[in-house]
Amino acid sequence: MNEEQLSKRLEKVASYIAHNERIADIGSDHAYLPCFAIKNKAASFAVAGEVVDGPFQSAQKQVRSSGLTAQIDVRKGNGLEVINPEDAIDTIVIAGMGGTLIRTILEEGQAKLTNVTKLILQPNIAAFQLREWSEKNNWTIISEAILREDNKIYEIIVLEPATEPVKWTEHEIFFGPHLLKEQNPIFKSKWRHEANTWRNIIQTISINQPISEDNQTKIRELEHKIALVEDVLK
Ligand code: SAM
Repeated sequence: MNEEQLSKRLEKVASYIAHNERIADIGSDHAYLPCFAIKNKAASFAVAGEVVDGPFQSAQKQVRSSGLTAQIDVRKGNGLEVINPEDAIDTIVIAGMGGTLIRTILEEGQAKLTNVTKLILQPNIAAFQLREWSEKNNWTIISEAILREDNKIYEIIVLEPATEPVKWTEHEIFFGPHLLKEQNPIFKSKWRHEANTWRNIIQTISINQPISEDNQTKIRELEHKIALVEDVLK
């Protein structure tokens, strides 16, 4: 992977950046995504934010070697704190982290979202956290994708500020409103695999009798999730 040939996952993320947008890529690491977006004229300006020293330096190096220092500002900082009002950012990308961390970044950076018109989020796990956040903060999900790369399955969620109150069902939060409608083979394979993992956990926990109260609660939670999956895949 480099700034000209992204991974399948990052290429799909980049495909949601439309034309000449002003983007912030939070947790940019190598800065391949902003370099690719600028080179392909999807973005006209980018902030590449990184909180860790090593990736921050590698982003700086990448931007310099691509000759894009005029269009991409690499900034060190936590989450959305690297964004300033004068950047006039339209689109924020947060990719390659857990859903819980992405949610925390959005919650802590709430004030920076006022003029943002699109969020492109790619949680590695716990995507439901972001759908819960979207309902609480009134962002609607305009698109979702699910893809497989190197035997891992990734979800992408694209949000815009909602004009009406957002209300998802439990199924929509869990599976994603668009992914649930589409139910493509990768979606089915992901949830079949997850349900099997949960069944195995229940079996393992149940070996130790009597089952502790904590484990009984865990089993009930897993059984509920398995029931959701069975309901959807039936
Ligand atoms: N976004 C790239 C991608 O999708 O390929 C890189 C993903 S990498 C696994 C996650 C990056 O996010 C790391 O470089 C990490 O240092 C950075 N990161 C984690 N928490 C962060 C935060 N609160 N603010 C900024 N960057 C963060």
